[in-house]
Amino acid sequence: MLGRKVKTALDLFLGKMPEFVLQLFAKIFSYFKKILSKKYAKSRRYSRLLRLCDFVITRCNGNRFIEYELSNICNAQCVFCPYPDMLRTEKKFMHMPKDVMESNLKKLSHFNSAMLSFTPTTGDTLLHPEWDEYIQSALESKYVHRATMFTNAIKLDEENREKFINLLKTKNGNKLSEIYFSLGGLDAVTYKALYKVDRFDLVVSNIAIFLEQLKKEGLTMGIHIHVKLLKGQTLDADLASKIFNPSDYPFVYYSQSNLYFSNEQYTRNSLIDYKPDHWAIKTKACAYLNKTRFAADGAIWADGCVISEMPGDSSLKLGENNSSWEAIESKRKLLIGNWEEKQEIPLPCRACTMYRPR
Ligand code: SF4
Repeated sequence: MLGRKVKTALDLFLGKMPEFVLQLFAKIFSYFKKILSKKYAKSRRYSRLLRLCDFVITRCNGNRFIEYELSNICNAQCVFCPYPDMLRTEKKFMHMPKDVMESNLKKLSHFNSAMLSFTPTTGDTLLHPEWDEYIQSALESKYVHRATMFTNAIKLDEENREKFINLLKTKNGNKLSEIYFSLGGLDAVTYKALYKVDRFDLVVSNIAIFLEQLKKEGLTMGIHIHVKLLKGQTLDADLASKIFNPSDYPFVYYSQSNLYFSNEQYTRNSLIDYKPDHWAIKTKACAYLNKTRFAADGAIWADGCVISEMPGDSSLKLGENNSSWEAIESKRKLLIGNWEEKQEIPLPCRACTMYRPR
């Protein structure tokens, strides 16, 4: 385990670095990890160094990910997500079709060393029947440097676990730098309260078996178990480890959320606490408007975080799959210009507690 002092010192050091240096570190440590992973497969040594690589890569990821939404359909109804409200709108819920995927892959040439996050704004990637083939084709792109993904692991069944293992063993599988599992608490009651479905036992079993398989295969995938919590709860990482990782797979990391992002544009829930909005006046546009989301239905949006698309609102939409890249970027420029020159703040950004000035 990395010592707390080392982690804190590294965090402080990396926090002071400019974006281009972080990108360089991420590349260097990804390269080290690739080499060490090959050695680990044969001798199970270098666990500590591999954990150090995971730590640095995660801290250097920053917020430049391109959000790639393979499906906007979800199998949960989380209380911190606008999805339940969206289900009552005209929005089309679907998996990304092949032609949209192919055209999006071509658009990646507009990014320098793209970092993809297969994390839908709403939805779960594993529900897409060909999620593994889509991710593999993205990893094969010369424009993609790294990728990550978030899933609630409800659909991490036998078939999808096998797909994951096979994907990680492909030539470009090591471009997938982390997998995040997003879970509600450490017990069935908390899970049901947050995710509104009874899937705690299923998720525990899916993850425990998957970690055991990764260990058996000698793979070094960094697994982040992100535990969402109710008001006043804190994470017991030892208990989490006993529940999810009985096989003691070495590359598992835990984090927690007990404060949730909000923008007051969708129904708040009294079971959870929200991050306060520290910005009374937002004169500068949000830095996240420079991020891009490829939505499952073919639309292209700015940002891509869970609250960037509000039910019935499309103010952060930059265009469609067949729009020219010039048109996409000029819409982005307009959004930023209108915010900074006319104080016309897009609906999801008003009172948004994720806001970060450009
Ligand atoms: S203010 Fe919030 S919704 Fe708007 S771009 Fe920033 S993070 Fe996204």
